[in-house]
Amino acid sequence: MANATNVRVRFCPSPTGNPHVGLVRTALFNWAFARHNEGTLVFRIEDTDAARDSEESYEQLLDSMRWLGFDWDEGPEVGGPHAPYRQSQRMDIYQDVAQKLRDGGYAYPCYCTTEELDTRREAARAAGKPSGYDGHCRDLTAAQIEAYEAEGRKHIVRFRMPDEATTFTDLVRGDITVQAENVTDYGIVRANGAPLYTLVNPVDDALMEITHVLRGEDLLSSTPRQIALYKALIELGIAKGIPEFGHLPYVMGEGNKKLSKRDPQASLNLYRERGFLPEGLLNYLSLLGWSFSADQDVFSIPDMVAKFDLADVNANPARFDLKKAEAINADHIRMLDVKTFAEACEPWLKAPHANWAPEAFDQAAWEAIAPHAQTRIKVLSEITENVDFLFLDAPVEDEASWTKAMGKGDPAALLTTARAKLEAADWTSPESLKEAVLAAGEEHGLKLGKAQAPVRVAVTGRTVGLPLFESLEILGKEKSLSRIDAALTKLAA
Ligand code: GLU
Ligand code: ZN
Repeated sequence: MANATNVRVRFCPSPTGNPHVGLVRTALFNWAFARHNEGTLVFRIEDTDAARDSEESYEQLLDSMRWLGFDWDEGPEVGGPHAPYRQSQRMDIYQDVAQKLRDGGYAYPCYCTTEELDTRREAARAAGKPSGYDGHCRDLTAAQIEAYEAEGRKHIVRFRMPDEATTFTDLVRGDITVQAENVTDYGIVRANGAPLYTLVNPVDDALMEITHVLRGEDLLSSTPRQIALYKALIELGIAKGIPEFGHLPYVMGEGNKKLSKRDPQASLNLYRERGFLPEGLLNYLSLLGWSFSADQDVFSIPDMVAKFDLADVNANPARFDLKKAEAINADHIRMLDVKTFAEACEPWLKAPHANWAPEAFDQAAWEAIAPHAQTRIKVLSEITENVDFLFLDAPVEDEASWTKAMGKGDPAALLTTARAKLEAADWTSPESLKEAVLAAGEEHGLKLGKAQAPVRVAVTGRTVGLPLFESLEILGKEKSLSRIDAALTKLAA
């Protein structure tokens, strides 16, 4: 039951671009933490950046969350006591808080122009001094403000950082102390009045009573600022307390570089299109910074939730390994019951992915072959090339396979013998079909592996595929023999 404890976590992406695996990992850890602790998961949309956010991306985020199997207790489509959960609909709240921060002296207007800031930053750097904001406008008098306004200058709103070090205990990284000179006063409202992430994110965490902030390591540097802001919000009676923070490790991609959102490997859609199962993908992503146990890395998502503990999250960067992701997904494919597997593949088998007409799809043949395919494929999209021989009028023309199987020895002689023996075999028994090909091979001095290759290519078009004799049985005697005939004709040409 949600809400059984006071644990409240949030997943709060910005709807920019396509969802990426880093985002999914963050969602997963928050969701698993909420479910493990019988707490509440808040799903909030941080769409205050009109230039970058899009409705299409918002729809995609929701669709992705549903596809992954996540549920949330508060947020879009489900509502909740802190609605609305889209920041673009909360602008009046931020304006009000920004005003209170200014009235309380926690924030102030800064009239510095970008050029002035740049010039002073350069000078500070040259003098070997810290190069953050220098506090120029911290204590402007009413007269100075009036003069700036009269000049027509615009101002941003800056938060006044206290002159003391910030110390907090990160749930993943342990104690962290940041000196005051490294965190200078920062902007919370733009010159055009638009509130910034630096304000809206902690304000909503406060108002939504978030107890644990679990997010990527890239946001670690914003935490001291947010803690200072929280203290102000507590004094203003807006926040009840400071949440705990846990920063999840970076995910490294190719060449040990941080996996970037723009990296094609990072796109969630890629994994959906290739036919990852949500549980396979989530299993893999859960290992990016966490481990289930020393000797087991394939598990169900309910088991993951049961075991999920922040104490087991590792601070070291995690490496994204596509091969391992596929291997884990393959294990999840094996774990499905065959009916579920068959249904999961059907979108790939019934256009538009398939290269046969939709009406050529044969449900009975598919259900017969499905158990053999289930033990073979790593991602669902691989199903097409494994079973297309059942639905195509003629097998695919794959030159490499043809050359490999037919390019040496006397394939025509072998196929002629095999065809005769198959003709006489019992087509309700794969064992009998195997005997036929085995016997044909013996007549030509070929072991089974060598003897079955030309048969396989004649019937399926490829040198590798599902177990051959089951494939022949399911395709049927008539079609199989006529494909062997067609191959013999081609060999004779
Ligand atoms: N909207 C922010 C992001 O997607 C959220 C950061 C946070 O979790 O605090 O980066
Ligand atoms: Zn200033």
